[in-house]
Amino acid sequence: MQKVNYQKEMERELARLKKEQVVPKLLLHSCCAPCSSYVLEYLSNYFSITIFYYNPNISPKEEFEKRVKEQQRLIASMPFKNPVDCIVGKYEPERFFEISKGLENVPEGGERCFRCYELRLREAAILAKQKGFDYFTTTLSISPLKKAEKLNEIGRKLEQEYQVSYLYSDFKKKDGYKRSIQLSQEYQLYRQNFCGCVYSKKEAMLREREIS
Ligand code: SF4
Repeated sequence: MQKVNYQKEMERELARLKKEQVVPKLLLHSCCAPCSSYVLEYLSNYFSITIFYYNPNISPKEEFEKRVKEQQRLIASMPFKNPVDCIVGKYEPERFFEISKGLENVPEGGERCFRCYELRLREAAILAKQKGFDYFTTTLSISPLKKAEKLNEIGRKLEQEYQVSYLYSDFKKKDGYKRSIQLSQEYQLYRQNFCGCVYSKKEAMLREREIS
């Protein structure tokens, strides 16, 4: 089966919005300030954005709080064409540990991550529905380690379940990841060396040990 180019799908949607001269409300789930930097720079030209920082996967709590502060600092520092604000979701790590049961040793990019994507995206879909957003999506596809196919498949399922449009996307395309690194340098953002959960931290430590 031919792979879908989700960047192209998004471009078609953005062109339609531009033609209709509308600025819809987007709830953008964000995993961290560095990943959101490029996405905000790009999408704030088309949407009024609310960042939804919901990441119960992050451990420990201090790391979660550090990433929240960086997210808020970035929003306050960047110039945007349309308004951008931020909602910080509850820190509820027990929900992440519940969905990870039995998958603790699965390497990054496997089934545990798919459940982790869905846990966060579902919360975003629920909030988008409750608060009357026109679209929801996530920054997660910017990472070369995150599977855009899977993220968009989950987005499609949730858009049908909650009746809120999912903005199909693959932000790593068109050098999105590279631009996020440039912006992180420009705004001197804290860039963590692990995805977020305790298991990814262990993997990162092993990787570093192998290199040194
Ligand atoms: S590696 Fe990242 S995406 Fe995968 S389970 Fe851990 S925090 Fe979630």
